[in-house]
Amino acid sequence: PRRKQLSVEEYVAGVLSKDRTILARAITLVESNLYEHLLIAQSVIKQLLPHAGKSIRIGITGVPGVGKSTFIEAFGCYLCDQGHQVAVLAVDPSSSVTRGSILGDKTRMENLARRPACFIRPSPSGGTLGGVTRKSRETMIVCEAAGFDVLLVETVGVGQNEVTVRSMVDFMLLLMIAGAGDELQGIKKGIMELADALLINKADGDNIIKARAARMEYEQALHYLAPATKGWTTHAYTCSSLTGDGISEIWQVIEDFCRTTKESGMFQARRQSQVRDWLHVMVEEELKARFYHHPNVLYVLPTLEKAVIEGKMPVTTAAKELLKWFDSNTGIIEHF
Ligand code: GDP
Repeated sequence: PRRKQLSVEEYVAGVLSKDRTILARAITLVESNLYEHLLIAQSVIKQLLPHAGKSIRIGITGVPGVGKSTFIEAFGCYLCDQGHQVAVLAVDPSSSVTRGSILGDKTRMENLARRPACFIRPSPSGGTLGGVTRKSRETMIVCEAAGFDVLLVETVGVGQNEVTVRSMVDFMLLLMIAGAGDELQGIKKGIMELADALLINKADGDNIIKARAARMEYEQALHYLAPATKGWTTHAYTCSSLTGDGISEIWQVIEDFCRTTKESGMFQARRQSQVRDWLHVMVEEELKARFYHHPNVLYVLPTLEKAVIEGKMPVTTAAKELLKWFDSNTGIIEHF
């Protein structure tokens, strides 16, 4: 049966009073692609904004198999034990390109999911890259307004995902394993430069020695890289998501990071530049969509494409021509 649509006030009151059912519905609303939902969602977000922003947003990335879900389960349970309210969000912008989530929908983090202080939300599906970003960012606002003070944003390390998640979090944690080889792990210099901490997981049993050696190697490598956050030195650590070794230590690192960057003003400065960048990305995406849906553009585009492919028209001229038709109020059909 179709549920009755809630009013803006009901959404806002429900989220602020930490009602889990309404929280989940508010996120569904935010994730909707329907125009009528967008309008309600924006009113809800506007009223929730003053209550948001008071969390620490932690991005967690690493190639498949590195132990992201196992780590998040162990780390999330630890944080709940410490009295934190933990929201886990999966963000997978690359799935909007590849169509279909690589995070999958397998039941994961079962222990964590049972904790009353925890809320787990899988990645929003469908839509453009900008659409996925908007949904994730607004979901974060909703979770913060509902009182979650630690947001764990999980993404699969495939290159572009890390960059997108970096743009929405305060602290970026890169999970790795020892002995897999940098190539296999897709650890490129650029990705390491996004991280505020490298964490070598699976440091247990026979693997401990190898993990410690890997930590030393990465520690060396970090000397030659630009820091992800001004005034903060990225270090490598080891942990085991199975035994729990190193889990409390990494939380201490994150707390230290918060203290340091809040004192220096870097924490606030990054958040400000993140929303400013988000604004520009949204405008750019909207403009692009309007351009490619414009009837004049649709009409002349094949001809101009053909002309540049055949070398009959300079690309710059063709681009200017297209923009002229985009700006023109006259329908192209009437023109010809
Ligand atoms: P994800 O793809 O990055 O989310 O990785 P998973 O969390 O699904 O873990 C992949 C595999 O590694 C699973 O079989 C886990 O049990 C195992 N694993 C994860 N963390 C650890 C760890 O700290 N130690 C050991 N020995 N195995 C681990």
